Amino acid sequence: MTETYEILAIKYARHAERTRAANFLWPDDHASPQPLDFYVWVVRNANRTILVDTGYDAAEGVRRDRPIEIESVDALRRLGIDPDTLDTVILTHLHFDHAGTLDRFPAAHFHIQEREVAYATGPCMCEATLQKPYHPDHVCSLVRKIYSGRVRFYDGDGEVAPGITVHAVPGHTQGLQCVRVQTHSGPVVLASDATHYYENFERRQPFSVTVDVAQTLRSYTRLEELAASRAHIIPGHDPLVLARYPALTAATSGQVHRVDLPRLR
Ligand SMILES: [Zn+2]
Ligand SMILES: [Zn+2]
Repeated sequence: MTETYEILAIKYARHAERTRAANFLWPDDHASPQPLDFYVWVVRNANRTILVDTGYDAAEGVRRDRPIEIESVDALRRLGIDPDTLDTVILTHLHFDHAGTLDRFPAAHFHIQEREVAYATGPCMCEATLQKPYHPDHVCSLVRKIYSGRVRFYDGDGEVAPGITVHAVPGHTQGLQCVRVQTHSGPVVLASDATHYYENFERRQPFSVTVDVAQTLRSYTRLEELAASRAHIIPGHDPLVLARYPALTAATSGQVHRVDLPRLR
């Protein structure tokens, strides 16, 4: 029988002063506020614990004027997860808010698409516009891990563990991947930045940071094919995730929520 998992969405930062003009390639309404939350995700069962993305640290938060509420390693420790012994980290892509702090996971192997590493280290990064969401230190940190044998590459679809697969969903970057997780209520897809908000895929309106519009639109369809239903797609940055899913415990309300459970609303 396929293994099933619990999935935690952990919010570690919020960009509060943000309007819809910043969130859509072709915004209809420019002025209305639309905050953006930053998450990492934990996928776990009795056999294993896997982290999806690592977030950024306090120093990067200051540099980007997006202060963090809690460093992801501290959020993990509060949940009884030791970053020093965690062995598997899936990186959906190498943007600063998904792939900082890699050195805080000294025992981990990192799972990433070949195309994302090629993109983040190739000629596109000569363009200031395209390199803006990356940090060279994060990219170099990943490259060092390749040289120490701690990176596993995928080209499209691949299995990370029983019931956990990765799938290429390019468009936001060239090598973005989503994570499909088997749960008691069917396969849930952690879309990461394949859809920042529910609205991006529901209204087929790409986020402002998009390197290929046609691929982005195709990737919305791919998310829908991979998930048990549209309600099983978890966007990468939407504050609605915390409103729609139950908190892990009363004490974690607004910070750690269970996205493998049925929606509250
Ligand atoms: Zn991104
Ligand atoms: Zn992001």
